Amino acid sequence: MAKQSHLYGPVPSRRLGYSLGVDLLPFKTCSMDCLYCQLGDGAKTTVRRKSFVPVKTVLAEIDKVLRSGTQVDAITFSGSGEPTLHPGLGRLIREIKRRTSLPVIVLTNSSLLTRPSVRKDVAAADIVVPSLDAVRERVFKKINRPHPALSAAGIIAGLVAFRKIYRGRIWLEVLLVKGLNDRPADLRALKKAIARIRPDRVQLNTVVRPPADSSARPLGPKDLEKVRGFLGEKAEIIAKFKKIGRISGTADIPGRVLDFVRRRPETVERIAEALGATPEAVGGVCRQLKKEGMIRSVVHRGRVFFETATDAAKRENPPS
Ligand code: SF4
Repeated sequence: MAKQSHLYGPVPSRRLGYSLGVDLLPFKTCSMDCLYCQLGDGAKTTVRRKSFVPVKTVLAEIDKVLRSGTQVDAITFSGSGEPTLHPGLGRLIREIKRRTSLPVIVLTNSSLLTRPSVRKDVAAADIVVPSLDAVRERVFKKINRPHPALSAAGIIAGLVAFRKIYRGRIWLEVLLVKGLNDRPADLRALKKAIARIRPDRVQLNTVVRPPADSSARPLGPKDLEKVRGFLGEKAEIIAKFKKIGRISGTADIPGRVLDFVRRRPETVERIAEALGATPEAVGGVCRQLKKEGMIRSVVHRGRVFFETATDAAKRENPPS
């Protein structure tokens, strides 16, 4: 695992056990620039698919982990952007499924499901977790700040078309921002869209992690519970409120990761836990900091730790 660079974890997840994360993209490569994104804001959006990394490179890294005996219960495509922007996604999933019976999961912002080729790629997975935060176009633009080519209506049509060809499980994720997409008209429109998409589950989340825009506010547990009741039996709350307020101020995740690993070498999972951020976001930040030469990764007993480049130099050249 020493040279792995497109994988992170395995990180524990409530439902899937230990999930090995696969990140196919350069830091914050996305078709959207969501108000609540933990990767920071202001990035240029794109809808152009591009082979950012060769499929065989990623497969070699996965093979290594699968052979190492590390506990892995699922493989999840997520990370520092929108995974469907990689045109090799379908091939990768199929190749993984030839190698292992582990479930493969794709987290997507749903934007490219408008394209039949992307729907076919994603359909190779066992579980798809697409997101849909807003149905009304004005709110969609405000909360997801999408590429100009995207519309909420197009995305919903893509999700409906995807459901028709897909036999696996769809867990639709909705992230609610107070005062933005939680108004009665938004929720009524959302409920109608959900009835058309027919997901297996609807997972409700809110801004419990440090957002790109500090003005993005969470719904409280009671409000979230009301939304759950309104959306019906498939809806469940996945927000973990104990994390709220753990990080003060705005989302300078790179600075906070750096501060953290300055103290001691740490895994993505531990950093994420301590910062109240997702492992996906922290994994992306670590890869970016590594690329910039600020930190480096070391492997200890089969686990990948990150440490500052200065610490590494000190260890290699101890003072005489
Ligand atoms: S939250 Fe996800 S979809 Fe939104 S900008 Fe960040 S990476 Fe893209």
